[in-house]
Amino acid sequence: MLEESLTTSIRPGAAAVPTILAEAGPEGGIRCGVCAHLCLVRPGRTGICGVRENRAGALVSHAYGAVVAMGLDPIEKKPLFHVAPGSTAYSIATAGCPFHCTFCQNWEIAQGPRLGLDLPTRELPPGRVVAAAIAAGAESIAYTYVEPTVFLEYALDTARLAREAGLRNLFVTDGYATPEAVGLLGPVLDAANVDLKAFNDAFYRKVCGARLAPVLDSIVAMRRAGIWLELTTLVIPGRNDDRRELRSLARWIVENLGVETPWHVRRFQPVYRLLDVPPTPLAVLRRVADLGREAGLAHVYVGNAPELDLEDTHCAGCGRLLIERHGYRVASHLEADGSCPDCRRMLAGRSLDRPAAPRRYDTQPAEVCG
Ligand code: SF4
Repeated sequence: MLEESLTTSIRPGAAAVPTILAEAGPEGGIRCGVCAHLCLVRPGRTGICGVRENRAGALVSHAYGAVVAMGLDPIEKKPLFHVAPGSTAYSIATAGCPFHCTFCQNWEIAQGPRLGLDLPTRELPPGRVVAAAIAAGAESIAYTYVEPTVFLEYALDTARLAREAGLRNLFVTDGYATPEAVGLLGPVLDAANVDLKAFNDAFYRKVCGARLAPVLDSIVAMRRAGIWLELTTLVIPGRNDDRRELRSLARWIVENLGVETPWHVRRFQPVYRLLDVPPTPLAVLRRVADLGREAGLAHVYVGNAPELDLEDTHCAGCGRLLIERHGYRVASHLEADGSCPDCRRMLAGRSLDRPAAPRRYDTQPAEVCG
């Protein structure tokens, strides 16, 4: 547990909504139970995420309905390759994040509250998010761009309405939710892409300000809760590209989630506080994809590297090409029931039972760390 007591940078008068999973702590502090930091938030301060404040003895969220990024994305951008291929997800984010990754592509909105940035915010109650998603022709709502557990109350209220309206709910997450938060999300979340950023606790502590073990626990809890999972690892030269470590990571996926769990290996590009680190060499990405397959994974993809053309889906049984991807253009060769036309094995995933249709996309922010 961290005893965190940041000075809040949230503007006075900003909307504040009571939080869930909060318990009274010593000396007027409140223990937040949303993410594995389990901050003890002192009076007048916020937790590590910068958006949950102890105000007059109650923990309140400044993130509820306060959207800083939104738009229509291809589901492949999350990335989720085994969920309704070719469909679109209406994507929303508030400010704040419990991690402090030095390679964050969305650092302005993730770290904005901590850095005191005055972020343009749009009030968007849950009902309006769902209405906007339907009007845009989206089949899903994605809670993304920053770590969505920091706006858990808002995500849950929106997700419940989305379910009633026949939409899917998707998380793009660092996997730091507590078991209690996963328990609340399980009934309403269809799928998640979880960033497994390294297989090394020192990396998590130094580069992200977090720990590895709670991420692994949360991933297993999400799987047990019935959420479809795909994992992503951004390979950063000299930081998390040790081959033995990545082999261990791939084996962990096989042993804990199964061989048909998609693993997205992504190319790093210099950003934020890692501007002096070069892009991941293509040869390294190829080797990492190989070791994932050697570990037994049937669906290893390489993102951010169109030169390698390693984003197609092949049948885990006979190897037949099932889904072709060129950028965000998708062509499905699956049978109507989601099976392989040659060997009839079902492709693992969700909502694979119909061909993809081309859509239009309009958003700019990157996914949480990809
Ligand atoms: S969500 Fe996580 S980082 Fe934010 S206050 Fe709660 S425990 Fe701390």
